[in-house]
Amino acid sequence: MSGKRTDDAQVNGGGKVRDPGPRLVWRETRPEGTRVQVGTRGLEIGGAGFVVMAGPCAVEGVEQTETAAAAVARSGAHLLRGGVFKPRTSPYAFQGMGEPGLRILAEAGRKAGLPVISEVMDTSQIPMMLEHADVLQVGARNMQNFALLRALSKVRKPVLIKRGLSATVQEWFLAAEYLLAGGNEQVILCERGIRTFETETRNTLDLAAVALAKQRTHLPVIVDPSHATGNADLILPMALAAVAAGADGLLIEVHPRPEQALCDGHQALTPERFETVMRRLPPLLAAMNRHLSRPVHPAHAAGAR
Ligand code: PEP
Ligand code: MN
Repeated sequence: MSGKRTDDAQVNGGGKVRDPGPRLVWRETRPEGTRVQVGTRGLEIGGAGFVVMAGPCAVEGVEQTETAAAAVARSGAHLLRGGVFKPRTSPYAFQGMGEPGLRILAEAGRKAGLPVISEVMDTSQIPMMLEHADVLQVGARNMQNFALLRALSKVRKPVLIKRGLSATVQEWFLAAEYLLAGGNEQVILCERGIRTFETETRNTLDLAAVALAKQRTHLPVIVDPSHATGNADLILPMALAAVAAGADGLLIEVHPRPEQALCDGHQALTPERFETVMRRLPPLLAAMNRHLSRPVHPAHAAGAR
């Protein structure tokens, strides 16, 4: 390799060519910060309003999804989450309901008055996701699926990109860079815990990375305390910690009957415990000069700012 320093290849002292770093994600390129527009009712992620996405890990059926949707909407959640394509470690584990599940999720969101977010695992799933979902989630295991990122850089809907299980902050930023570089500016970062030597929690929630991402990039940052801890008892304290770290919102798993969940039941909150989380957020948000974003559905707007 030549030792010539070009725009696209930075050369180390040793003469080895390093990958070029991010460019478009840096806060300097948009000091005012990116505000991602979700759905058709004016919901914004990345402004002063704090946004909560909640719902089951996986869509399991109509009753389960609609019960969860109604409950999280009642408690003031802003988006309904639910996976229909599940990236499971074992091929024998529940893989998700696929497109029929996506229809169930969209209908549950419509009835509860909430926009929906769901994971897209493969480029072939993008058209159906665009039809039914308001935010497309890239899962931790797909953070470096570059074909998927390139395809999603061409869509006109927001993409939430989770940090990979063992991804450095720089790799996470570069994954977001793929989306921006291809022309999609509606990008949300999501910290969901990383693999460390610790085994008492499912992952280790990297809150410093949240503060860092807020300082260094202009993108909204969401924290997922459910996958970060794998423990329903730790969701409330880590949700509050996420607020203190400067996150723009939360992604929380809620199931009407966690003990019967087909996926991630041990980390799912009951609707009652989710309600407690939602009640504990406002005082801490106020201390951070923020507030819960106004409910998306007019029926839940009583008393909202
Ligand atoms: C999920 O959100 O259900 C999920 C599979 O998350 P992650 O990609 O963070 O493991
Ligand atoms: Mn899950």
